[in-house]
Amino acid sequence: MNFWLNLSHSFHASTITVLHYCRSRLAVWHDEHNQVAENATHENLRRLPWILAAFIPLLVLGMTIKWSEQKSSDAAYAAFARLFFWVDVGLILWLSFLISVLYIYKRHNQVLALGHSMTILVSTNFLLLGVTMSALSQRALPSATMYVLGCIFSGALLLIRPRVVVPVHAISYVFFFYAIDLWNGVPHGYIVFERLYGFVACVIGIFLSLLLWRWFTTNELLHREVEQHRNELEFCNSDLTRQHALLEEMAQHDALTGLLNRRAFEQEADLAMQRARRDGSCISVMMLDLDFFKHVNDHYGHPAGDDVLQFMASVLRCSVRDTDVVARVGGEEFSVLLPHTSAVDACEVAEKIRLRVSHAPVPVVNDRTVSMTVSVGVAEFLSGHIGAFSCLYAAADQALYKAKRGGRNRVEVSITAF
Ligand code: GH3
Ligand code: MG
Ligand code: MG
Repeated sequence: MNFWLNLSHSFHASTITVLHYCRSRLAVWHDEHNQVAENATHENLRRLPWILAAFIPLLVLGMTIKWSEQKSSDAAYAAFARLFFWVDVGLILWLSFLISVLYIYKRHNQVLALGHSMTILVSTNFLLLGVTMSALSQRALPSATMYVLGCIFSGALLLIRPRVVVPVHAISYVFFFYAIDLWNGVPHGYIVFERLYGFVACVIGIFLSLLLWRWFTTNELLHREVEQHRNELEFCNSDLTRQHALLEEMAQHDALTGLLNRRAFEQEADLAMQRARRDGSCISVMMLDLDFFKHVNDHYGHPAGDDVLQFMASVLRCSVRDTDVVARVGGEEFSVLLPHTSAVDACEVAEKIRLRVSHAPVPVVNDRTVSMTVSVGVAEFLSGHIGAFSCLYAAADQALYKAKRGGRNRVEVSITAF
């Protein structure tokens, strides 16, 4: 007794587990099918005109054959051929109508609403036609071949959701089951065979359709996943490119003033030297150092010192040409490279900068102003005597210290660059 009770319990439990699994599986499929339904309709709409158009030449061929057969001496056969001739004519007109409707809707972009019903209409047309032709042909040549073809075309050519395919095929089989026996005179054994044949065709049609739908769903979802990963990668890539550009910008520029830093300045200077060597032009450099800058930091605080450095950067920016290279090379030290410029011209620019700095009190934090001066050292490589940038730099540095030693707030030029 206990054994049977246990057996019944475990059977009950496993049935519940299986049902739960089936329910969750169906829910997943339902969700997946909803996701791809719209694309399936688009795909059907793409296929439909071709599928429909492909049948027209076949029907025309059938028409011509039946046209010749209606002259047969067998009166019954001739009547039968005439009937099928007109069936073909009707079908050609029907297909042309469907193709025109598709074309008109496509032109007016109202495809989605139409696509779904059109797909089911064409699919049921295949099945109904199969049933009708099979039923009609029972009189002359008992065969379920047309129904078989209807099931295969309906299942394999269009993408239809399983929840539609199964009932539509089942209903078509019910029609087939009764329609095949409409004409008396077909032997009973043959009818049973035909119905069995039709049943297998119906199952094959459903199976083909399920297979096609599953293939489409899997493909579509995979495609979307790949697309999503591609978008994510593209986003990461653009983010990396942005960060790379930012890092490059940070590696080349001084954060406080936005001017080039020493490393970038030396790179630019090397390039400018090569160009000057090739052009045979002269090139100058100026070194600028704010006078008693430490005093500003000590008396007004470091934020005020930062304001002065930013002011100095803006003075430099608007005092030189676009082709000149301005950089902050140390704490309160700046350099300007002036291609195609002699020491005399560079001294003029340096003097202009010196005057601008000394004549403009610099606004700093807490609404205060600071008066600053700057010392400048200038050096030049004459055309045809372009050497290494370090020599020019060292010469400008010597000139700067000469200016400092000479009392500051002045411009000095070095003549020892080459
Ligand atoms: P000199 O006239 O001889 O050039 O004297 P100086 O005071 O200008 O030169 P010194 O080298 O003695 O002082 C430079 C000061 O610049 C020291 C340092 O604290 C300050 N400094 C360097 N970088 C920065 C910065 O980014 N911001 C601020 N506020 N101060 C800086
Ligand atoms: Mg200094
Ligand atoms: Mg200084």
